[in-house]
Amino acid sequence: MKITGIETFVVSNGFTPPRAWHFCAIRTDAGLTGYSEFGSDGLSRGLVGLVQDLGQRLIGKDPTAVEKHYLDLYRAVRQAPYGATQQAIAGIELALWDLAGKALGVPVYKLMGGPHRERQWVYWSHLATYRANNWKLLGAKPLRSLQDLADVAREAPARGYTVFKTNIIWPGDPARAISQGRLGPHDQVATRDIVKQAVAQIGAMREAVGPEIGICLDINVNFKPSEAIRVGRALEPYDLFWLEIDNQDPQALAQLKSSVRPPICSGEQLQTMRQYRPYFELHAMDVVKVDVQWQGFSAAKKVADLAETYELNIAPHNYNGHLSTFQSLNLCASVSNVRIMESDPEQTPYRDELFTALPEIASGHMKIPTAPGWGTELNEKAAKKYEWTG
Ligand SMILES: [Mg+2]
Repeated sequence: MKITGIETFVVSNGFTPPRAWHFCAIRTDAGLTGYSEFGSDGLSRGLVGLVQDLGQRLIGKDPTAVEKHYLDLYRAVRQAPYGATQQAIAGIELALWDLAGKALGVPVYKLMGGPHRERQWVYWSHLATYRANNWKLLGAKPLRSLQDLADVAREAPARGYTVFKTNIIWPGDPARAISQGRLGPHDQVATRDIVKQAVAQIGAMREAVGPEIGICLDINVNFKPSEAIRVGRALEPYDLFWLEIDNQDPQALAQLKSSVRPPICSGEQLQTMRQYRPYFELHAMDVVKVDVQWQGFSAAKKVADLAETYELNIAPHNYNGHLSTFQSLNLCASVSNVRIMESDPEQTPYRDELFTALPEIASGHMKIPTAPGWGTELNEKAAKKYEWTG
């Protein structure tokens, strides 16, 4: 089997403001196509160009030597590592794993010696957050009051989820959230208003769902560690499942972790063992966020394996299309140290149209897929229909 072509698809998720989902398709002379979902929002033209630049090196080669190809791509652009470079390599590498699994007729986790599990515990992510701007699209009621936020929280247990994650939200007309897409104050300061709102919101949500439901709060890149400490301390009475923060200094994160009671989840923006290792050495996080779409499958698995040697569990970062979910489920089935996995039950209504198989969810758990490769494929016709145009 030889690689004959590499194609990318960029799809709008329909949100206001729109976000882009990226897919890669690798064609072969055997008639098999390998698919991947990869990359982060805001880099679409660059990612497409990088995949084209890197992908041409693989034309005519056997796709199943995945690790070899990964290392060759890594070596080729070693002077500009991480970031979008790594995301583009991931786009290619993930599609190669899909082909390797399909060529042998097995799911990718079988190539890793899995499955470690038949189903994966997941949490409802971006609960209420997505409704702040997109309540109409999602067919939900607007978030006008604290009571509305409490009502959304109740929907998680009602739909079988035992853990959910949210962001700091000001209900109103329009409601406002600070998250990754909607950044907080320029100087990363947790103002009195922000801390007050976090306490009011999480307090109301805790009262609504009772003590048994896990609540995570993601403050993303929005606060300096000293500011995040104030948020974390103010929320101590509400028994958070975790406080999530993205941070670029391992010692600062370690300081944060030792200064607040809630467990700290971090790491989604880190790529490969080299970037995680300084954080692990300081035990700077309690739960390790690992993004398959941003670093590739074997890089993510190696991070999970390294985390195991520091007595840490991972939590796959997963908020895009269903292919991303299937890739992340394959990771969970390939390792023994998973805390819980992220999932977005609420997304643009046409998300289901974009994939040939959908996640199977029951009682807050997702079934580990059993079909060859990732277990789902991109519907290319639908991807063209909802093409992202910038
Ligand atoms: Mg996060």
